[in-house]
Amino acid sequence: MNLLCDLSFDALGELLRGYSQPSFRTKQIFSHIAAGRELGAMTGVPKDLVKRLEDDGWRALGLTVEKSFTSALDGTVKYLYALGDGNIVEGVLMKYKYGNTLCVSTQVGCAMGCAFCASTLGGLVRDLTAGEILSQVLVVNALNAEKDRRGVTNVVLMGSGEPLDNYDNVTAFLDLLADERGINVSRRNVSLSTCGLCDRIRKLADDGYAPVLTISLHTPFDELRKKIMPIANKYSVAEVVGAAKYYFEKTGRRVIFEYSMIEGENDTRECALALAGLLKGFPSHVNLIRLNYVKERGLKGSCDTAIDKFSKILDNNGVSNTVRRSMGSDIEGACGQLRRKYINNKN
Ligand code: SAH
Repeated sequence: MNLLCDLSFDALGELLRGYSQPSFRTKQIFSHIAAGRELGAMTGVPKDLVKRLEDDGWRALGLTVEKSFTSALDGTVKYLYALGDGNIVEGVLMKYKYGNTLCVSTQVGCAMGCAFCASTLGGLVRDLTAGEILSQVLVVNALNAEKDRRGVTNVVLMGSGEPLDNYDNVTAFLDLLADERGINVSRRNVSLSTCGLCDRIRKLADDGYAPVLTISLHTPFDELRKKIMPIANKYSVAEVVGAAKYYFEKTGRRVIFEYSMIEGENDTRECALALAGLLKGFPSHVNLIRLNYVKERGLKGSCDTAIDKFSKILDNNGVSNTVRRSMGSDIEGACGQLRRKYINNKN
């Protein structure tokens, strides 16, 4: 199966020239795709062209919404998407006063093996293509933009998968997302979260991409980090912070460190002081969030008192930080709870 949503505007134009189409057709079909329409629903596009494209194995979008669950707590919606090959990926739409943020997946499963995360339980199944990542935004935007409701205004690459382990597709996705002739989500409103692939962080900046970079640090100590994040065997905490500084210097964008608080592991005074020492003088920000429960894992989230104490120590040492509340935890839509498939509705 070939996906039209994988194609840049120019590549779509070239394809359509091969079908002897006038040049306005490119703009027309590109904007239909941006509106989340499948080939059959593209008004104004000749039926015989639709048929020829379909016969040649083309589809407009990379997935369909299989199911959705809405949180009774905060209105967060979890989406289960069915990919063309039957794989399932998940995404989460969070509604804030300033807009709607969609958390997108970049891989089916994940190879990184973090000890607290459900997305990596079955390992990496495959990378998503640029169009499959984009399709998540397009279909959710279309669903939410109906009836004058607001569509997707912000996109975070924080669903299942490690975005920088799927570098080419993810950067192609960033290009598609920012194309003014398409869905045109402002580059300022896109965040990319990584467990800290240092070489790729530097490459991203060198290649001229500048999403808000969020690095899942979770501890200032190498030994503990190795215990909970296998990637720490490859890159030390000092190297991760070095790559963050490089990114900041190149892009001018303040880096955010994600810190999921695990009871009795990374929530101690010692950890807070070491983290403050590590980030001293570096214009960055720390997001503290309680570890969410993942039933296959034995780790527990820290209590409110421990989180508040930790935050105060950072405050007192001049480290900008926010305690983030978890959204969608009743629908298993919170950080670390996204899975690659749902089996017999057990999840
Ligand atoms: N691979 C990327 C993006 C996906 S995970 C990354 O590692 O950043 C998005 C965020 O959720 C990361 O900060 C990750 O460490 C965090 N996370 C994973 N499992 C979690 C859990 N059970 N509770 C809280 N945060 C979790």
